[in-house]
Amino acid sequence: MDVSTSSASPTSGLPPCVLALDVGGTGMKGAVLDRAMRPIASLRRPTPRGEGPTAVVDAVAETLLALERLAAERGLPVAHAGVVVPGIVDEDRRRAVWSANIGWRDLPLAAVLESRTGLPVALGHDVRAGGAAECALGAARGARNVLFVAVGTGIAAALVVDGRPVRSGGLAGELGHVEVRGGTACACGGHGCLETLASAHAVASAYTARTGRPAAGAADVAARVREGDPVARAVWGEATDGLAEALAMATTLVAPELVVLGGGLAEADRLLLDPVRDRLAARLTFQRTPALVRAGLGDRAGCLGAGLTAWQAVDHHTHTLFTGAPTP
Ligand SMILES: [Zn+2]
Repeated sequence: MDVSTSSASPTSGLPPCVLALDVGGTGMKGAVLDRAMRPIASLRRPTPRGEGPTAVVDAVAETLLALERLAAERGLPVAHAGVVVPGIVDEDRRRAVWSANIGWRDLPLAAVLESRTGLPVALGHDVRAGGAAECALGAARGARNVLFVAVGTGIAAALVVDGRPVRSGGLAGELGHVEVRGGTACACGGHGCLETLASAHAVASAYTARTGRPAAGAADVAARVREGDPVARAVWGEATDGLAEALAMATTLVAPELVVLGGGLAEADRLLLDPVRDRLAARLTFQRTPALVRAGLGDRAGCLGAGLTAWQAVDHHTHTLFTGAPTP
């Protein structure tokens, strides 16, 4: 995507833009997006999660105001802001219900940010928003039954069935917490969760535990798999087996045509996709075998999803204004 640095006067009558912000466990990615979802400006800032949830809320509000200034410098009126966060997010109630990573509990985040910034704010879930972006702009364009799986520090999924996102009060899509063989005790309180075997964090930790040698991350383990390191190969094999087992379960239940793998582990590309595809196909009998592809938007999916969330809120308000009825 091109990044325009053109400016215009505040009275230029330019079309409105939206502010998009993806709040991650370590960093925030923000952008000013036009109606065609092109980034006009962007910024990245660290997430101060070590300082607690209040500091994170402060940083999110400040970053939205910084994005608003970037829009103002270009003379662009802001139609809406979209903010996506990890954990359990109830989009309809506009609340960040829970995040182990950031530490907030049942926080009316959209309303808090609106009062702090004066901007209209729509709240979304990082992975569901990323999945929506992959459907609109990325690897899942044109597909109506999609499972988007983000395999990063944790594992979560976005599910689109018959063209509609499945949210269920923000609780749907927790693929990281289905039980698979080889899984261990999980931070969620369960045992055997996929996340304990196949997240980027789990892969790096398992390698370090078995060898005593630190792994800088899942990418480091992937590099050792390519070099033929037998421990790395064993750890990688268990992770891909676990992913295939969970995907087989999801395929049996909701029959996606397309599975899109994103997040840090998908950076390994074919080293991840090929064995997961083979092991998934081997597990299926009568089911439709989904196509398995790598995400197309990389780490921009969440931010673009935040932008889509904002534009949807604009369209919803416009529809309500002219017909008096909410959009279906
Ligand atoms: Zn769990």
